[in-house]
Amino acid sequence: MAKLTFWGAAREVTGSCHLIESEGVRLLLDCGMHQGGHQSERRNGEPFPFEPKQLDAVVLSHGHLDHSGLLPRLFKTGYKGPVYCTEATRNLLAIMLEDAAGIHLRDVEWENKRRKRAGKPEIEPWYDMEDVLHVLEHCVGLPYHETHTINGHVKLQFHDAGHIIGSAIVDLLIKEHGHSKKLVFSGDLGNADAVLMRDPEILENADLVLMEGTYGDRDHRTLDNTLDELSKALTQASADKGNVLIPAFAVGRTQEMLFHLGVLYKQGRVPQQRIFLDSPMGIEVTRLYTEYMDLLDPDDLKKVSAKLGDDPKSYLPMLTLTESTEDSMAINRIKDGAIIIAGSGMCNGGRIRHHLKHNIWREECHLVFPGFQAQGTLGRQIVEGNRHVKFFGQDFIVRAKVHTLGGFSAHAGQTQLLDWISHFKSRFRLYLVHGEPEALETLQQTLQHKLGINAEIPAEGTSVLF
Ligand SMILES: [Zn+2]
Repeated sequence: MAKLTFWGAAREVTGSCHLIESEGVRLLLDCGMHQGGHQSERRNGEPFPFEPKQLDAVVLSHGHLDHSGLLPRLFKTGYKGPVYCTEATRNLLAIMLEDAAGIHLRDVEWENKRRKRAGKPEIEPWYDMEDVLHVLEHCVGLPYHETHTINGHVKLQFHDAGHIIGSAIVDLLIKEHGHSKKLVFSGDLGNADAVLMRDPEILENADLVLMEGTYGDRDHRTLDNTLDELSKALTQASADKGNVLIPAFAVGRTQEMLFHLGVLYKQGRVPQQRIFLDSPMGIEVTRLYTEYMDLLDPDDLKKVSAKLGDDPKSYLPMLTLTESTEDSMAINRIKDGAIIIAGSGMCNGGRIRHHLKHNIWREECHLVFPGFQAQGTLGRQIVEGNRHVKFFGQDFIVRAKVHTLGGFSAHAGQTQLLDWISHFKSRFRLYLVHGEPEALETLQQTLQHKLGINAEIPAEGTSVLF
């Protein structure tokens, strides 16, 4: 019997990590970081609940940090084997892990300065840049649908999950005592209504399925309404003679926003004269999307440009990519007619804070939030309607108009999750992971009620044999 242990994203949305032990192979599915608040993030510095040295392989579903962020720590604590992922994920990891390490090391340095002054012992970083390089050196990029055999016992294949560039559904055929068992891990399933990514691929056979349930309790608002809201915000900002600020995640959301602006521009619905993508990481990731144009949805691409392989400037001629700090600071002089896309997506860091400093107190400006804002972030305070906020150690009054767009999501909604799982023909066991307990419980009840499928919600640290 093979054994599967749920070590993360069990009854929560971050820290994706599952251990598979079978005859002759020990492999880890994802090695994600815990995110969202101090309590949760402190866990990233704790020892792994298994021995990293004894693992034979790591299989990675996609590049988001809640799935990949602890890989450098895994190497720091003794792992030396391969990390299997898609080719695009490997390139995305190079951008994301380096960025995350930079932030982490700066935080530790700052904290240690503080500790030194207070006479307290210094703390160690969870990992450093060298560990990030080790991860990248050990990444094995595989194309979708190519079978790769691990240790002669496990056959691995990736299928497109349609979530972000390179994202995969993991398909494992595990050989044990002459029998084979098939485990399918959904990774994060994309939202079929979202643009750029293709629809998640349909699979039909499995003995055991691990499915994500981030939005297991609801469907998303329709995209058409959301785009109308965006268009209205742009028109209003133009009439008010102010700027539009769009805080966006560098991976996925930024590229989607460029695409939507491209479509609106083509329809004559963007009155602004200038658009700035003011995010070094967002620019790098956008280039990566351009490089992997063949993985994107061809029908979507046709909506902005007749020719594949074009960069976003070809469909947004007024787009400026600002990489240097000087170019970024020069935007501060513009008081009217600009759309500024910058990170971080929840305004808890990054260049967006500088733009907020110059625009948030001006009633002619508009703030457009296209993504989820977690508890405790500056973005959350703003979308909740706080009139006074504090950042950079200063007080600000929120006079700019705030728009929250609910229709963008990179995750499948409830109906899409049900549809994806309904295609499995054989009898299988289903485990729901990667969701808040309420979302997973609602999904569990709906699966039983609508499809007659029994699903379990495993607790962290529990194991199942299959
Ligand atoms: Zn993800």
